[in-house]
Amino acid sequence: MSTERPCPEQCNVLLIGGGGREHALAWKLSQSPKLDTLYATDVTNGGIAALATPCDQKWDPTREFYLNRWCDRHDIHLIVVGPEVPLAEGIADTLATEHRLVFGPSKEAARIESDKSYAKDLMRQASIPTADSRTFTDIDAARSYLLRGLDRELENDFKTELAKEVSSFIEWCSEREKTTPFQFTDELQALLDVREEPCVVKASGLAAGKGVIVCETVGDGLRAVELIMKDCAFGDAGETILIEEFMTGIEVSVLALVDGGTIWILDLCQDYKQVGEGDTGPNTGGMGAFCPASLLDEEMMRYVEREILVPAVDAMRRDGIEYRGVLYAGLMLTTAGPKVLEFNCRFGDPETQPLMVRFKGDLLDVLWRTAAGTLDDASIEFDDNVACCVVMCSDGYPGSYVKGQVITGMETAESSDNVVVFQAGTNCSRGELTTSGGRVLGVTAMADSLEEARQIANEACGEIHFNGAFWRNDIGCRNIEINYPSVN
Ligand code: AMP
Repeated sequence: MSTERPCPEQCNVLLIGGGGREHALAWKLSQSPKLDTLYATDVTNGGIAALATPCDQKWDPTREFYLNRWCDRHDIHLIVVGPEVPLAEGIADTLATEHRLVFGPSKEAARIESDKSYAKDLMRQASIPTADSRTFTDIDAARSYLLRGLDRELENDFKTELAKEVSSFIEWCSEREKTTPFQFTDELQALLDVREEPCVVKASGLAAGKGVIVCETVGDGLRAVELIMKDCAFGDAGETILIEEFMTGIEVSVLALVDGGTIWILDLCQDYKQVGEGDTGPNTGGMGAFCPASLLDEEMMRYVEREILVPAVDAMRRDGIEYRGVLYAGLMLTTAGPKVLEFNCRFGDPETQPLMVRFKGDLLDVLWRTAAGTLDDASIEFDDNVACCVVMCSDGYPGSYVKGQVITGMETAESSDNVVVFQAGTNCSRGELTTSGGRVLGVTAMADSLEEARQIANEACGEIHFNGAFWRNDIGCRNIEINYPSVN
């Protein structure tokens, strides 16, 4: 196969996506000796704008003809897709031609991220360790599932009236034609609100990372089901939901390049989801990450490859789906071993930022080989140094925040050889760089040790100013090593 589609000596590349992840990819792609011209669809991002020539067509599945024609005219050899939405919409199927490769999985393969209920079925078929879960398309079936067994338990506790109320609710849920709504008595509502039965309610479709609600009580679970299925908080993405067993443990993401057959696991990153220092406050898209992380030792990495990544790729192949692109497994390290929280079909953000800073070699060639199915011949190496990325955010994030704040101090921050500032939510127009998102910059430093890298990154953050800027000072403070019992 390698002889069929070798990477051209001079490649025109089109980059899709406009966040920190894509700036990091653009930065590394620009260093490739094989790059002729780098084009990008999203050049409002000041970092990408400085590296790429604008493509005046956007990806839009209903107007794919125009982007296809633009790619033909500009002799595009490789399209690199950053975000999940275009992949779920089928960009890889639509824009790949005899002369052009797309880095990123096909629409069918991207279902591993865009359809959580499909991913769950796949994991079940392939015996991949994951949380137990049930899938629902009917709100009442989901509600009565949350109350299962409660009537009997209340009966046994001699709370006969409450037991009867739960039974009638479950019966009401099963009625096809409902003439009256069901209203819980205050007493039952109060009981449900304190009854601890942690679970996780998930919209099955793509919901910009927001469709997962962790619930502590039965009352929380019922409200989450209503929010997703009745109030349609995540639109069509919530037509199908999953109610999952709640797992505890440390989270880690394993990213691998997959070319249909060969799986190449990339160095491990540890990311920080919660907005506040010490892992407090609401979840965000990611407040920072460092790489390499030592959460999983070699034996555990082999286990993840053998029990999670290989079976997932094989299960898809059995279904006639060849997976090519990044396969990202979000894992919970439970006391029973690693279990899959979710699969993603693209690079993580911000993990890609410290990953790219450490990536040695030719990214363009590696992405080409992944798309061409010739990854087995690739050379992928990472710098021995540690990279730490601290995300600077707009005041209010992850809630509502103001945009348009002027950013200064970038040059000073980047004056050190060890620092690269990746731009995520920025806007560069009329020579002025302003904020345009919640996550604004990924200040990434590389050094001998994690301690030094995090110190340099934090100092660089201190050089950059915009109104309301904040970041977590503790990114990289913990590099946990877990001693697992042997998994062989
Ligand atoms: P996901 O998009 O499925 O990875 O979920 C987003 C976040 O929700 C994860 O990073 C976890 O913090 C949390 N989460 C998801 N599923 C579970 C689960 N079954 N148990 C505990 N936490 C979960």
